Amino acid sequence: MFRSAWIEIDHRALRENFRRIFRDKPEGVGVLSVVKDQAYGHGAAAVANEALRAGACYLAVATLGEALELREQGINAPILIFGERSPEEVEVCLEQRLSFFVNELEMLTLVRQAVRRVGKRACVHVEVDTGLSRYGVRWTRAMEVIRAVASAPEVEFEGVMSHFAQSDELDKSFAYEQLGRFESVLNAMREDGIRVRYRHMCNSGGFLDIPRAHFDLVRLGILPLGVYPSQVCRRIEGIRPVMSVRARIAALRDLEPGDVVGYGMHYVAESPRRIAVVTIGYADGFPRVRNRGYMLVRGKKAPIVGGNAMDATMIDVTEIEGVSRWDVVTVLGRDGQEEITAHDIASWRGTVSYDILAGWGPRLSRIHLFEEEAPS
Ligand SMILES: *Cc1c(COP(=O)(O)O)cnc(C)c1O
Repeated sequence: MFRSAWIEIDHRALRENFRRIFRDKPEGVGVLSVVKDQAYGHGAAAVANEALRAGACYLAVATLGEALELREQGINAPILIFGERSPEEVEVCLEQRLSFFVNELEMLTLVRQAVRRVGKRACVHVEVDTGLSRYGVRWTRAMEVIRAVASAPEVEFEGVMSHFAQSDELDKSFAYEQLGRFESVLNAMREDGIRVRYRHMCNSGGFLDIPRAHFDLVRLGILPLGVYPSQVCRRIEGIRPVMSVRARIAALRDLEPGDVVGYGMHYVAESPRRIAVVTIGYADGFPRVRNRGYMLVRGKKAPIVGGNAMDATMIDVTEIEGVSRWDVVTVLGRDGQEEITAHDIASWRGTVSYDILAGWGPRLSRIHLFEEEAPS
């Protein structure tokens, strides 16, 4: 089938990344694979299956819908749903054996009632808010919730966790502040004789740079996808990006000096230029940029000119030999010696690589590459 723009998911890279992560991690630390938002646009079931094959013991998503989708795809592994569940969602979690958070006493009461109604035990984790101020019970009063959860016969108290506000930057002082707060809760639990199977705090940044926070389980989202959480965190040799995005040249036009390009007329040709119209725009998730960034054509950089439209982006191919209509354009990924990373695109727009990976729209089809096959 002819495609005008698409995403390629390289399973060879994904497998190799998981293999290298498993070799890098200390023995005894489990891996929870975070596949929320379709594994940041890579396909949740596809990434989950590779993770489980590599030895991951847990999966996590952000919504009940995402968890149910994984169950529908036949995935029976433990799944933890991040965030808070509304009262309506609790029974479904019990029926489908989905683990979720109990971060306050009111929620515990509700869960105990639901367990008695449904006849299935709940598997719960407690999130300790150590400074992100998002989900969880504040560390100073976490023991109150933890003691109650630990003594409720209706629930299996499986985990205690926290989440870093910043784990991948050079200045880790707040991360260590948070870690200290979490450790104080873990110490209090020890004094009370309360044990859980999984104590977990690390995302990819914490896994790479804060070994003291590894505990029993690390929650990895972006790293197995071959993208580092920041430019300054530790590197693992051989990790490479899994996702590429490609589009095509649908038209070529020759500009004369003084011609303008695109909505808003933000580019004016100062000399004769050859412009290619690429079949991808901001509706597809390529960020709105203006005379910033580039795409790759025939292994060379072609600068973006003007402001991109919803469905099209114009690039300058004047300096590139032999460009033809329907040539493949690399929007994200490698072409010959050149590579465009998610960090590159993020920097053109002033955002983070997570935003670029997760932002691609449903109009792009996903092609999963397993062997040396070349996409058509
Ligand atoms: C998204 C998320 C992660 C994964 O973070 P990465 O930086 O992608 O590894 C881990 N834990 C929680 C609570 C999350 O929401």
